[in-house]
Amino acid sequence: MPVPKQKKSKSKVRSRRAHDYLTELSLVTCSNPECGEQMMPHRVCPRCGQYKGRQVIQVS
Ligand SMILES: [Zn+2]
Repeated sequence: MPVPKQKKSKSKVRSRRAHDYLTELSLVTCSNPECGEQMMPHRVCPRCGQYKGRQVIQVS
């Protein structure tokens, strides 16, 4: 039976296992009732530019 010649480094093992714990992206609906965009939580809405009901950036 073949046996690995070298011990895998911590870096190698950890970088491989990093992908084992990825979870599905969770999205929230924009709080602006006129928008309703699906977006990343705790971020400015990319469509209407609002965060917590406040206009943060201007979207063309
Ligand atoms: Zn929005």
